[in-house]
Amino acid sequence: MFDSLLIANRGEIACRIIRSARDMGLRTIAVYSDADRHARHVALADEAWHIGPATAAQSYLQIERLLEVARQSGATAIHPGYGFLAENADFAEACVAAGLIFVGPPATAMRAMGSKSAAKLIMQQAGVPLVPGYHGADQQLETLRGAASEIGFPLLVKASAGGGGKGMRVVHSATELDAAIAGARREAAASFGDDQLLLERYLEQPRHVELQVFADSHGNTLHLFERDCSVQRRHQKVLEEAPAPGFTDELRQAMGAAAISAARTIEYVGAGTVEFLLDSAGSFYFIEMNTRLQVEHPVTEMISGQDLVAWQLAVAAGGALPCTQENLQIKGHAIEARIYAEDPLRDFLPSIGALQHLHFPAEDAHLRIDTGVRQNDEISIHYDPLLAKLIVWDQDRTAALRRLRRALKQVEVVGVKTNLAFLGAVAGHAAFGAGNFDTGFIDKYRSELLPEPTQASAQTLVLASLFLLLRRDAKAQQSALKSTDPHAPWHRTDGWRLNGDNLHRLSFDDGENQVQVVAHYRPQNYLIELPSGSLAATACFDPAGRLQATIDGQQLTARVVRNGMELSVFSSAGSQSLILHDPYADAFCQEEPGGSLNAPMPGKIIALLVENGAWVKRGTPLVILEAMKMEHTIAAPHDGTVTQMNYKVGALVDDGAALLAFDPDEGTRL
Ligand code: ADP
Repeated sequence: MFDSLLIANRGEIACRIIRSARDMGLRTIAVYSDADRHARHVALADEAWHIGPATAAQSYLQIERLLEVARQSGATAIHPGYGFLAENADFAEACVAAGLIFVGPPATAMRAMGSKSAAKLIMQQAGVPLVPGYHGADQQLETLRGAASEIGFPLLVKASAGGGGKGMRVVHSATELDAAIAGARREAAASFGDDQLLLERYLEQPRHVELQVFADSHGNTLHLFERDCSVQRRHQKVLEEAPAPGFTDELRQAMGAAAISAARTIEYVGAGTVEFLLDSAGSFYFIEMNTRLQVEHPVTEMISGQDLVAWQLAVAAGGALPCTQENLQIKGHAIEARIYAEDPLRDFLPSIGALQHLHFPAEDAHLRIDTGVRQNDEISIHYDPLLAKLIVWDQDRTAALRRLRRALKQVEVVGVKTNLAFLGAVAGHAAFGAGNFDTGFIDKYRSELLPEPTQASAQTLVLASLFLLLRRDAKAQQSALKSTDPHAPWHRTDGWRLNGDNLHRLSFDDGENQVQVVAHYRPQNYLIELPSGSLAATACFDPAGRLQATIDGQQLTARVVRNGMELSVFSSAGSQSLILHDPYADAFCQEEPGGSLNAPMPGKIIALLVENGAWVKRGTPLVILEAMKMEHTIAAPHDGTVTQMNYKVGALVDDGAALLAFDPDEGTRL
């Protein structure tokens, strides 16, 4: 075994590879772009080298720079991960030429599978079943038209160099053909620099089932069973599982044999995936081979009990496969959900921004989280917006699905939009639960899987209110501690007021609706009045910052995260968010008595309503701030004097900026 490994990748896959490499005692060497200086993979590696600007073309795709780092760091091997240079035969060759071990197949095998057309010719010769189609070199329009009428409609036009569903068009009739060919050609040329196309019969409602294969350089080749990756959006995988639901051993053996034969034909070495489409009659057809580790490899690891990255490293070092086909057994069922920073309601467009809050449930034998991000990281336009892969395992599919639904609810993300609710809807869908799905699943049930936002529940409103009240009380307590007179009545922290009432009004925006909540302070608890009725509640923060609440006798744990005026409430019922409507209501969370009033979020000052030295009554509007396209009025928290305005009209202020200095009259403070 070699002793050091450079990982030419980033994000969760770099972290994943580092984990196995470290377990094997290797020195791990990470690389990073400007955007990844503080990334998780950099922190996990033994050392990390800067390779260039954020743009992948100028950093993670820079073959020369990566080889230079390998030389400088004394790396003996390079793992390309997936994506970036993982299937670039020139890179594999350059590594070997530089005297490095490339953790992947030989460049010749990569080239053989690099073009879908060429791969199909090879597979045809090896007797692997193909989707009927045309994959010839002659790309003249007349030839393609002739081939199309032979194949029949509907058919699929595909980019031969394609990946990620790009350059693909479904054609339903001859009249659509020319336009589809022209469009696919343009997209293929732009995305892959290669406009070769192939035509295939478009299978109605197929399942995507792929076989994990592995080969060593001693002539051993085996498969580690199948994965069902039929749940796709825009021909991209979202949920993957192993074994495939309803699969027979007979089919497994037939597909396994076809996959092994495919790998042997191209003298494959290392980890590879042979992808097939399976029709409703149980016939399977080769579509392509990926010559690398797949994103969804963890489900195979969970059901086989093997570490595929450890296998890759052992094979790259010249070792034999650690076991034989007969030693491998499927144990239980595993499902992976890809959690993306994206907006399902806007056609799954990536959602960029800072991860203000990020929490995953704890890993155990039933739950694995593969992630490359941490709280406060930025999801940028530069890379894939994958936040994490959540993988569950249990004895059977029903139990694994139950774990998946529960674990998805325990993930907390604030700062970007995510597909968590969408994944939860898929995991909870009856047809998916019954294993009754194909590649058209998301399109077929789109309206059920993309539910409109629901109204905040009574529990959400109470939890959000409790959070604000506790924060207010903590603030009041801090002020009391600073006080020199411990007996002063306005230093009481239980909500009791000398002259005022002992209640607090809160106002939230819940989607289109505005909701009023009134919290009454009582000796033992709060009485919280909601539009739907009143509830008695108490709460405290636990050391992890979660809210331990009792609401009408029901004890529950929840987390409320505040980001500007947005409150995200996470509980076992799922997550909901509310906008705190009135900054005045929130002033108690922000202000220091006798000090300044702070901006509740970044924004622009659009009006100053009083002058320096003005004496104002509690509640008088002082400053209007525009933020998130809404106006927020900052009002006096007590009777008192404005001693200084810190900004002029038009000034841009940061979250928390002190807007003015204010001197409250004695005896009027909270
Ligand atoms: P890419 O390399 O762009 O991912 P693939 O050839 O692997 O493209 O196909 C991706 C997905 O497109 C498949 O999983 C399947 O859902 C769909 N698909 C591909 N070929 C066909 C076909 N002939 N008939 C029906 N669906 C297909």
